[in-house]
Amino acid sequence: MVRISVSEACRRLIDEEVVAIPTETVYGLAATLEASDAVQRIFVLKQRPANNPLIIHLAEPSHLVAYAKEIPPGTDALTAHFWPGPLTLVLPVVTNRVPEQVRAGLPTAAFRIPRHELTLAILRQVGPLVAPSANLSGRPSATTVEHVEEDFGDRVPVVEGGPCTSGMESTILAYRDGLWRIARLGALSAEELEPVLGYRPALYDGSHDSSPLCPGSLYRHYAPKAKLVLGREPYTGQLSVVIGYSDRQYPGASTLLTLGPSSDPDTVAHHLYDVLRQLDRMGLSAAWVDLQVGHDGLWAVIRERLNKAAVET
Ligand code: AMP
Ligand code: MG
Repeated sequence: MVRISVSEACRRLIDEEVVAIPTETVYGLAATLEASDAVQRIFVLKQRPANNPLIIHLAEPSHLVAYAKEIPPGTDALTAHFWPGPLTLVLPVVTNRVPEQVRAGLPTAAFRIPRHELTLAILRQVGPLVAPSANLSGRPSATTVEHVEEDFGDRVPVVEGGPCTSGMESTILAYRDGLWRIARLGALSAEELEPVLGYRPALYDGSHDSSPLCPGSLYRHYAPKAKLVLGREPYTGQLSVVIGYSDRQYPGASTLLTLGPSSDPDTVAHHLYDVLRQLDRMGLSAAWVDLQVGHDGLWAVIRERLNKAAVET
C-alpha cells in the first residue's frame, strides 16, 4: 500500500511514472501526456486493449486550443458550464500534438477537467495527464483508494483523495453531423445537458460502426466476478444474495447489500461500484439485483452500468 502526497505525485509523474489520482467521478491511473513508456505501462497494468483510447485531463479550458483541430459549436458553453466536472468532450485534434497511443490511432481525442482539488493541483504543476479509470479492464471502476489497491496492490502509488463524490464515470460527448451526441452515458445526465445545448443529446450507438464513436463501449465493463441476475419483477427469493434499496424489503434474502434509497439515484450511483466489488470481497458467486427503478436522469446510467456488468463472458 503506497500512498503519496501531491508533491510526491508530481515528482513521480515528471519522472515518467504511473500514479493513481482521485477525481470526482472515479480514481484514475495517470501519466503525463508525453511520457510514452508510462502511457504504455497504463495499458499493460490495466490489461486494456490498445484500441481503447485514453481521456486527457487538463487544468484549464483554454488549453484545448493547443490540441484541437476544430472547436465545434457549443464547446465554449459546455466547458463554461460543466468544467471542472464530469463531462468529457471528443474533439478532432492536430494529430502530431497528441501521441498516437493516447488516441488509439483515431483522429480525435477526449478531454476533460476533473473537479477534485488535489488532482487540479497536480494538473497545474505537471500539465496534461492521461488518466483512464484505475481498475483492471472489465472490472468495476475504483471509487476509493482501497479499490485501487484491490486491483493493483502496491504496483501503483495512490494520492488519497477520499471516496469519489459522484462515483460514476464522466459523460462523453462527441460532435457528429451537426449535433453533440452521447458516446458514453455518465455522471452528467442528458437532462442536465439539455438547457446548455438547447436540445437533449441523443445516445449514439456506434457499436456496429467500423470506427465506433466510443471504442470502450465495445468491451465488457464494470463486472464483478459474481454473476448478476437483473430483477425487473418483484423479489420472490430468486437468489439468496440481493443487491437492493434501503427502503425496500426482500423477505427471505440471506445477504442484502444496499445501494441506498430507491428515491435517490445520486446515492445509488455513489455506492454502485463498491457494492459490486463487495460481492467479490465476500466470495459470493451470484446476486439478484433490484432493477425496478426509474428510467430518467442518473437511473438511465445506473441501468446501463448494471446491464453491462451482468453480461456473461
Ligand atoms: P475510462 O477512462 O477507462 O473510463 O475510459 C475512457 C473512455 O473514453 C473509453 O470508453 C474510451 O473509448 C473513450 N474515449 C477516449 N478517447 C476517445 C476518442 N478519441 N473518441 C471516442 N472515445 C474516446
Ligand atoms: Mg474505465
